[in-house]
Amino acid sequence: MEFSESVDTARMHAAKALELLDKYGIPATPRNYAVWYTYVNDRFPDLTKTLNVLITNKLNFTSQKNDELYDRFFTNNDEGIALQETSRQIEEQVGRVLTMMGDASGDVEDFGKSLTNRLGDIAKSSGLDSIRDAVQALALETQAMQQSNAVLQEKLKQSSQEIASLRQNLEDVQREAMTDALTGIANRKMFDTTLRRRAMEAMEEGTPLCLALTDIDFFKKFNDTYGHQTGDQVLKLVASILQGNVKGNDLAARYGGEEFAVILPRTELPDAHTLCEKIRNAVSTKRIRNRQTGEEMGNITLSIGIAVFRPGEALSDFIHRSDEGLYFAKGHGRNQTVLETQLESA
Ligand code: GH3
Ligand code: MG
Ligand code: MG
Repeated sequence: MEFSESVDTARMHAAKALELLDKYGIPATPRNYAVWYTYVNDRFPDLTKTLNVLITNKLNFTSQKNDELYDRFFTNNDEGIALQETSRQIEEQVGRVLTMMGDASGDVEDFGKSLTNRLGDIAKSSGLDSIRDAVQALALETQAMQQSNAVLQEKLKQSSQEIASLRQNLEDVQREAMTDALTGIANRKMFDTTLRRRAMEAMEEGTPLCLALTDIDFFKKFNDTYGHQTGDQVLKLVASILQGNVKGNDLAARYGGEEFAVILPRTELPDAHTLCEKIRNAVSTKRIRNRQTGEEMGNITLSIGIAVFRPGEALSDFIHRSDEGLYFAKGHGRNQTVLETQLESA
Protein backbone atom coordinates (compact mmCIF):
# COMPACT_ATOMS: atom_id res chain seq x y z
CA MET A 1 0.00 0.00 0.00
CA GLU A 2 1.16 3.49 -0.76
CA PHE A 3 1.11 6.33 1.70
CA SER A 4 1.86 9.82 0.51
CA GLU A 5 2.16 11.87 3.67
CA SER A 6 5.37 13.52 4.86
CA VAL A 7 7.55 11.85 7.49
CA ASP A 8 6.36 14.28 10.16
CA THR A 9 2.69 13.69 9.42
CA ALA A 10 3.31 9.96 9.26
CA ARG A 11 4.99 10.05 12.68
CA MET A 12 2.06 11.98 14.10
CA HIS A 13 -0.44 9.50 12.64
CA ALA A 14 1.60 6.59 13.93
CA ALA A 15 1.60 7.98 17.46
CA LYS A 16 -2.14 8.61 17.32
CA ALA A 17 -2.80 5.10 15.94
CA LEU A 18 -0.78 3.48 18.74
CA GLU A 19 -2.60 5.60 21.28
CA LEU A 20 -5.96 4.37 19.96
CA LEU A 21 -4.82 0.72 19.92
CA ASP A 22 -3.88 1.18 23.53
CA LYS A 23 -7.13 2.94 24.41
CA TYR A 24 -9.32 0.17 22.96
CA GLY A 25 -7.12 -2.66 24.23
CA ILE A 26 -6.21 -3.87 20.74
CA PRO A 27 -2.92 -5.75 20.37
CA ALA A 28 -0.50 -3.77 18.18
CA THR A 29 -0.02 -6.42 15.52
CA PRO A 30 0.99 -5.17 12.05
CA ARG A 31 -2.54 -5.83 10.74
CA ASN A 32 -4.29 -3.99 13.57
CA TYR A 33 -1.79 -1.18 13.22
CA ALA A 34 -2.54 -0.91 9.47
CA VAL A 35 -6.27 -0.65 10.22
CA TRP A 36 -5.87 2.06 12.85
CA TYR A 37 -3.17 3.99 11.04
CA THR A 38 -5.52 4.18 8.07
CA TYR A 39 -8.32 5.27 10.38
CA VAL A 40 -6.17 8.11 11.68
CA ASN A 41 -5.10 9.37 8.26
CA ASP A 42 -8.68 8.96 6.96
CA ARG A 43 -7.55 7.33 3.76
CA PHE A 44 -10.58 5.04 3.38
CA PRO A 45 -13.74 6.95 4.30
CA ASP A 46 -15.65 3.64 4.63
CA LEU A 47 -13.14 2.36 7.16
CA THR A 48 -13.36 5.59 9.15
CA LYS A 49 -17.16 5.41 9.12
CA THR A 50 -17.16 1.76 10.17
CA LEU A 51 -14.79 2.32 13.07
CA ASN A 52 -16.70 5.41 14.18
CA VAL A 53 -19.92 3.40 14.39
CA LEU A 54 -18.19 0.60 16.28
CA ILE A 55 -16.60 3.06 18.71
CA THR A 56 -19.92 4.86 19.27
CA ASN A 57 -21.56 1.51 19.96
CA LYS A 58 -18.77 0.70 22.43
CA LEU A 59 -18.00 -2.48 20.57
CA ASN A 60 -15.48 -4.85 22.03
CA PHE A 61 -12.59 -5.14 19.57
CA THR A 62 -12.11 -8.89 19.80
CA SER A 63 -9.39 -10.49 17.73
CA GLN A 64 -12.13 -11.84 15.48
CA LYS A 65 -13.52 -8.34 14.92
CA ASN A 66 -10.02 -7.02 14.22
CA ASP A 67 -9.40 -9.76 11.65
CA GLU A 68 -12.74 -8.99 10.04
CA LEU A 69 -11.83 -5.31 9.73
CA TYR A 70 -8.45 -6.08 8.23
CA ASP A 71 -9.84 -8.56 5.71
CA ARG A 72 -12.55 -6.18 4.70
CA PHE A 73 -10.32 -3.24 3.91
CA PHE A 74 -6.87 -4.65 3.21
CA THR A 75 -7.18 -8.02 1.53
CA ASN A 76 -5.98 -7.54 -2.02
CA ASN A 77 -7.52 -10.11 -4.30
CA ASP A 78 -7.59 -10.02 -8.11
CA GLU A 79 -10.99 -8.45 -8.20
CA GLY A 80 -9.94 -5.78 -5.74
CA ILE A 81 -6.96 -4.97 -7.94
CA ALA A 82 -9.16 -4.82 -11.03
CA LEU A 83 -11.49 -2.44 -9.26
CA GLN A 84 -8.60 -0.28 -8.11
CA GLU A 85 -7.21 -0.15 -11.62
CA THR A 86 -10.54 0.88 -13.11
CA SER A 87 -11.07 3.53 -10.45
CA ARG A 88 -7.60 4.86 -11.21
CA GLN A 89 -8.44 5.10 -14.90
CA ILE A 90 -11.66 6.92 -14.13
CA GLU A 91 -9.77 9.36 -11.95
CA GLU A 92 -7.33 9.96 -14.80
CA GLN A 93 -10.16 10.66 -17.21
CA VAL A 94 -11.78 13.08 -14.83
CA GLY A 95 -8.42 14.79 -14.39
CA ARG A 96 -8.11 15.15 -18.16
CA VAL A 97 -11.58 16.66 -18.40
CA LEU A 98 -10.75 19.12 -15.67
CA THR A 99 -7.58 20.18 -17.50
CA MET A 100 -9.56 20.73 -20.68
CA MET A 101 -12.11 22.79 -18.80
CA GLY A 102 -9.27 24.83 -17.33
CA ASP A 103 -7.75 25.41 -20.79
CA ALA A 104 -11.11 26.41 -22.18
CA SER A 105 -11.82 28.85 -19.40
CA GLY A 106 -8.49 30.49 -20.19
CA ASP A 107 -9.61 30.80 -23.80
CA VAL A 108 -12.94 32.25 -22.76
CA GLU A 109 -11.20 34.79 -20.56
CA ASP A 110 -8.92 35.88 -23.41
CA PHE A 111 -11.92 36.10 -25.69
CA GLY A 112 -13.73 38.31 -23.19
CA LYS A 113 -10.69 40.61 -22.98
CA SER A 114 -10.37 40.94 -26.73
CA LEU A 115 -14.10 41.63 -27.07
CA THR A 116 -13.72 44.49 -24.61
CA ASN A 117 -10.69 45.81 -26.53
CA ARG A 118 -12.50 45.66 -29.85
CA LEU A 119 -15.51 47.47 -28.40
CA GLY A 120 -13.10 50.11 -27.11
CA ASP A 121 -11.57 50.38 -30.62
CA ILE A 122 -15.02 50.81 -32.12
CA ALA A 123 -16.00 53.50 -29.64
CA LYS A 124 -12.78 55.40 -30.27
CA SER A 125 -12.77 55.05 -34.03
CA SER A 126 -13.75 57.97 -36.12
CA GLY A 127 -13.81 56.55 -39.61
CA LEU A 128 -15.88 53.79 -41.19
CA ASP A 129 -12.73 51.94 -42.20
CA SER A 130 -11.43 51.58 -38.70
CA ILE A 131 -14.88 50.43 -37.49
CA ARG A 132 -14.92 47.86 -40.29
CA ASP A 133 -11.44 46.65 -39.28
CA ALA A 134 -12.50 46.29 -35.65
CA VAL A 135 -15.66 44.38 -36.61
CA GLN A 136 -13.64 42.18 -38.95
CA ALA A 137 -11.20 41.34 -36.13
CA LEU A 138 -14.14 40.64 -33.84
CA ALA A 139 -15.65 38.23 -36.36
CA LEU A 140 -12.35 36.34 -36.68
CA GLU A 141 -11.90 36.02 -32.95
CA THR A 142 -15.49 34.86 -32.51
CA GLN A 143 -14.94 32.21 -35.13
CA ALA A 144 -11.73 31.04 -33.47
CA MET A 145 -13.57 30.85 -30.16
CA GLN A 146 -16.32 28.76 -31.74
CA GLN A 147 -13.74 26.39 -33.17
CA SER A 148 -11.90 25.96 -29.91
CA ASN A 149 -15.27 25.35 -28.25
CA ALA A 150 -16.09 22.71 -30.85
CA VAL A 151 -12.77 20.94 -30.17
CA LEU A 152 -13.50 21.03 -26.46
CA GLN A 153 -17.00 19.66 -27.03
CA GLU A 154 -15.58 16.82 -29.07
CA LYS A 155 -12.94 16.03 -26.44
CA LEU A 156 -15.53 16.09 -23.70
CA LYS A 157 -17.75 13.75 -25.67
CA GLN A 158 -14.89 11.28 -26.17
CA SER A 159 -13.98 11.50 -22.57
CA SER A 160 -17.49 10.91 -21.33
CA GLN A 161 -17.77 7.88 -23.64
CA GLU A 162 -14.55 6.51 -22.20
CA ILE A 163 -15.79 7.08 -18.67
CA ALA A 164 -19.07 5.32 -19.48
CA SER A 165 -17.22 2.29 -20.82
CA LEU A 166 -14.94 2.19 -17.77
CA ARG A 167 -17.95 2.34 -15.53
CA GLN A 168 -19.51 -0.55 -17.45
CA ASN A 169 -16.27 -2.55 -16.99
CA LEU A 170 -16.38 -1.86 -13.31
CA GLU A 171 -19.98 -3.01 -13.03
CA ASP A 172 -19.26 -6.19 -15.01
CA VAL A 173 -16.29 -7.10 -12.84
CA GLN A 174 -18.27 -6.39 -9.70
CA ARG A 175 -21.35 -8.34 -10.80
CA GLU A 176 -19.34 -11.36 -11.90
CA ALA A 177 -17.37 -11.44 -8.69
CA MET A 178 -20.55 -11.34 -6.65
CA THR A 179 -22.65 -13.91 -8.53
CA ASP A 180 -22.90 -17.64 -7.96
CA ALA A 181 -22.04 -19.34 -11.26
CA LEU A 182 -24.53 -22.22 -10.94
CA THR A 183 -27.66 -20.48 -9.70
CA GLY A 184 -27.10 -16.91 -10.86
CA ILE A 185 -28.05 -15.46 -7.47
CA ALA A 186 -25.66 -13.67 -5.09
CA ASN A 187 -22.68 -15.71 -3.92
CA ARG A 188 -21.04 -16.02 -0.52
CA LYS A 189 -18.84 -13.00 -1.12
CA MET A 190 -21.84 -10.84 -1.90
CA PHE A 191 -23.53 -12.27 1.18
CA ASP A 192 -20.57 -11.31 3.41
CA THR A 193 -20.32 -7.81 1.97
CA THR A 194 -24.06 -7.19 2.14
CA LEU A 195 -24.46 -8.53 5.67
CA ARG A 196 -21.71 -6.20 6.89
CA ARG A 197 -23.29 -3.24 5.18
CA ARG A 198 -26.80 -4.03 6.42
CA ALA A 199 -25.56 -4.57 9.98
CA MET A 200 -23.92 -1.17 9.87
CA GLU A 201 -27.11 0.43 8.59
CA ALA A 202 -29.20 -1.36 11.21
CA MET A 203 -26.94 0.13 13.90
CA GLU A 204 -27.01 3.60 12.39
CA GLU A 205 -30.77 3.62 11.84
CA GLY A 206 -31.78 1.56 14.84
CA THR A 207 -33.80 -0.73 12.57
CA PRO A 208 -34.21 -4.53 12.90
CA LEU A 209 -32.22 -6.84 10.62
CA CYS A 210 -33.06 -10.52 10.19
CA LEU A 211 -31.00 -13.33 8.76
CA ALA A 212 -32.46 -16.62 7.59
CA LEU A 213 -30.25 -19.61 6.83
CA THR A 214 -31.68 -22.58 5.02
CA ASP A 215 -30.43 -26.02 4.05
CA ILE A 216 -32.09 -28.54 1.75
CA ASP A 217 -33.33 -31.63 3.59
CA PHE A 218 -31.84 -35.02 2.69
CA PHE A 219 -30.13 -33.58 -0.33
CA LYS A 220 -27.40 -36.17 -0.34
CA LYS A 221 -30.03 -38.86 -0.82
CA PHE A 222 -31.58 -36.85 -3.65
CA ASN A 223 -28.18 -36.59 -5.36
CA ASP A 224 -27.47 -40.28 -4.82
CA THR A 225 -30.85 -41.26 -6.25
CA TYR A 226 -31.14 -38.92 -9.22
CA GLY A 227 -27.58 -37.84 -9.90
CA HIS A 228 -25.55 -34.75 -9.19
CA GLN A 229 -26.70 -32.93 -12.33
CA THR A 230 -30.34 -33.27 -11.39
CA GLY A 231 -29.30 -32.09 -7.95
CA ASP A 232 -27.83 -29.00 -9.57
CA GLN A 233 -31.17 -28.32 -11.27
CA VAL A 234 -32.84 -28.48 -7.85
CA LEU A 235 -30.34 -25.94 -6.49
CA LYS A 236 -31.28 -23.63 -9.36
CA LEU A 237 -34.95 -24.14 -8.60
CA VAL A 238 -34.54 -23.33 -4.90
CA ALA A 239 -32.45 -20.27 -5.79
CA SER A 240 -35.11 -18.99 -8.17
CA ILE A 241 -37.87 -19.47 -5.58
CA LEU A 242 -35.79 -17.54 -3.02
CA GLN A 243 -35.03 -14.81 -5.51
CA GLY A 244 -38.67 -14.59 -6.50
CA ASN A 245 -39.73 -14.02 -2.91
CA VAL A 246 -37.38 -11.21 -1.93
CA LYS A 247 -37.64 -7.56 -2.89
CA GLY A 248 -36.01 -4.18 -2.38
CA ASN A 249 -32.90 -4.40 -0.24
CA ASP A 250 -33.48 -8.04 0.73
CA LEU A 251 -30.75 -10.38 -0.48
CA ALA A 252 -31.05 -14.07 -1.36
CA ALA A 253 -27.64 -15.74 -1.63
CA ARG A 254 -26.08 -19.15 -2.06
CA TYR A 255 -24.24 -19.53 1.20
CA GLY A 256 -22.55 -22.84 0.50
CA GLY A 257 -23.18 -26.11 -1.40
CA GLU A 258 -26.89 -26.63 -0.71
CA GLU A 259 -27.27 -23.90 1.86
CA PHE A 260 -28.84 -20.55 1.14
CA ALA A 261 -29.23 -17.32 3.09
CA VAL A 262 -31.71 -14.48 3.06
CA ILE A 263 -30.77 -11.08 4.50
CA LEU A 264 -33.80 -9.04 5.49
CA PRO A 265 -33.07 -5.41 6.40
CA ARG A 266 -35.68 -3.35 8.28
CA THR A 267 -37.61 -6.53 9.01
CA GLU A 268 -38.97 -7.72 12.36
CA LEU A 269 -38.69 -11.38 13.31
CA PRO A 270 -42.44 -12.18 12.82
CA ASP A 271 -42.34 -10.75 9.29
CA ALA A 272 -39.17 -12.68 8.49
CA HIS A 273 -40.97 -15.77 9.79
CA THR A 274 -43.97 -15.20 7.50
CA LEU A 275 -41.70 -14.73 4.47
CA CYS A 276 -39.65 -17.85 5.23
CA GLU A 277 -42.77 -19.93 5.65
CA LYS A 278 -43.96 -18.70 2.27
CA ILE A 279 -40.64 -19.75 0.73
CA ARG A 280 -40.65 -23.10 2.53
CA ASN A 281 -44.19 -23.81 1.29
CA ALA A 282 -43.36 -22.76 -2.26
CA VAL A 283 -40.41 -25.19 -2.32
CA SER A 284 -42.17 -28.11 -0.64
CA THR A 285 -45.24 -27.94 -2.87
CA LYS A 286 -43.22 -27.82 -6.06
CA ARG A 287 -43.28 -31.20 -7.79
CA ILE A 288 -39.84 -32.02 -9.10
CA ARG A 289 -39.88 -33.61 -12.51
CA ASN A 290 -37.09 -34.54 -14.91
CA ARG A 291 -37.76 -32.47 -18.01
CA GLN A 292 -36.17 -34.98 -20.38
CA THR A 293 -37.60 -38.22 -19.08
CA GLY A 294 -40.71 -36.84 -17.39
CA GLU A 295 -39.76 -38.88 -14.33
CA GLU A 296 -41.43 -37.68 -11.10
CA MET A 297 -38.94 -37.14 -8.29
CA GLY A 298 -41.36 -36.14 -5.56
CA ASN A 299 -40.73 -33.04 -3.48
CA ILE A 300 -37.88 -31.48 -1.64
CA THR A 301 -38.10 -29.55 1.59
CA LEU A 302 -36.13 -26.89 3.45
CA SER A 303 -35.15 -26.43 7.09
CA ILE A 304 -34.78 -22.77 8.05
CA GLY A 305 -33.35 -20.88 11.03
CA ILE A 306 -33.87 -17.15 11.64
CA ALA A 307 -32.13 -14.72 13.99
CA VAL A 308 -32.35 -10.97 14.52
CA PHE A 309 -29.21 -8.82 14.73
CA ARG A 310 -28.07 -7.51 18.12
CA PRO A 311 -26.36 -4.13 17.55
CA GLY A 312 -22.61 -4.32 18.04
CA GLU A 313 -22.37 -8.10 18.08
CA ALA A 314 -19.85 -9.91 15.85
CA LEU A 315 -21.45 -11.01 12.59
CA SER A 316 -20.22 -14.54 13.25
CA ASP A 317 -22.42 -14.58 16.39
CA PHE A 318 -25.41 -13.38 14.39
CA ILE A 319 -24.85 -16.07 11.77
CA HIS A 320 -24.30 -18.67 14.46
CA ARG A 321 -27.72 -17.98 16.01
CA SER A 322 -29.45 -18.41 12.63
CA ASP A 323 -27.51 -21.62 12.21
CA GLU A 324 -28.64 -22.88 15.59
CA GLY A 325 -32.26 -22.38 14.51
CA LEU A 326 -31.52 -24.28 11.33
CA TYR A 327 -29.99 -27.21 13.17
CA PHE A 328 -32.80 -27.28 15.67
CA ALA A 329 -35.17 -27.57 12.70
CA LYS A 330 -33.05 -30.44 11.34
CA GLY A 331 -33.18 -32.22 14.66
CA HIS A 332 -36.94 -31.80 15.05
CA GLY A 333 -38.34 -33.30 11.88
CA ARG A 334 -36.90 -30.92 9.20
CA ASN A 335 -39.20 -29.05 6.75
CA GLN A 336 -39.79 -26.25 9.26
CA THR A 337 -38.72 -22.73 10.25
CA VAL A 338 -37.24 -22.11 13.70
CA LEU A 339 -36.78 -18.64 15.21
CA GLU A 340 -34.05 -17.80 17.70
CA THR A 341 -36.79 -16.90 20.20
CA GLN A 342 -38.07 -20.48 20.00
CA LEU A 343 -34.60 -21.75 20.90
CA GLU A 344 -34.52 -19.63 24.05
CA SER A 345 -37.79 -21.14 25.25
CA ALA A 346 -36.90 -24.69 24.15
P1 GH3 B 1 -29.75 -32.80 5.92
O1 GH3 B 1 -31.22 -32.92 5.80
O2 GH3 B 1 -29.27 -33.13 7.28
O3 GH3 B 1 -29.26 -31.48 5.47
O4 GH3 B 1 -29.14 -33.90 4.95
P2 GH3 B 1 -28.33 -33.64 3.63
O5 GH3 B 1 -28.15 -34.93 2.95
O6 GH3 B 1 -28.94 -32.57 2.83
O7 GH3 B 1 -27.01 -32.98 4.22
P3 GH3 B 1 -25.51 -33.25 3.98
O8 GH3 B 1 -24.75 -32.09 4.50
O9 GH3 B 1 -25.15 -34.59 4.52
O10 GH3 B 1 -25.34 -33.29 2.42
C1 GH3 B 1 -25.35 -32.19 1.63
C2 GH3 B 1 -25.22 -32.64 0.23
O11 GH3 B 1 -25.36 -31.56 -0.65
C3 GH3 B 1 -23.89 -33.26 -0.05
C4 GH3 B 1 -23.60 -32.86 -1.45
O12 GH3 B 1 -23.64 -33.97 -2.30
C5 GH3 B 1 -24.74 -31.95 -1.84
N1 GH3 B 1 -24.26 -30.79 -2.53
C6 GH3 B 1 -23.50 -29.78 -2.04
N2 GH3 B 1 -23.20 -28.90 -3.04
C7 GH3 B 1 -23.77 -29.37 -4.16
C8 GH3 B 1 -23.83 -28.92 -5.52
O13 GH3 B 1 -23.27 -27.88 -5.89
N3 GH3 B 1 -24.54 -29.67 -6.40
C9 GH3 B 1 -25.17 -30.81 -6.02
N4 GH3 B 1 -25.86 -31.48 -6.93
N5 GH3 B 1 -25.13 -31.26 -4.76
C10 GH3 B 1 -24.44 -30.56 -3.84
MG1 MG C 1 -25.79 -29.02 4.37
MG1 MG D 1 -28.90 -30.61 3.61
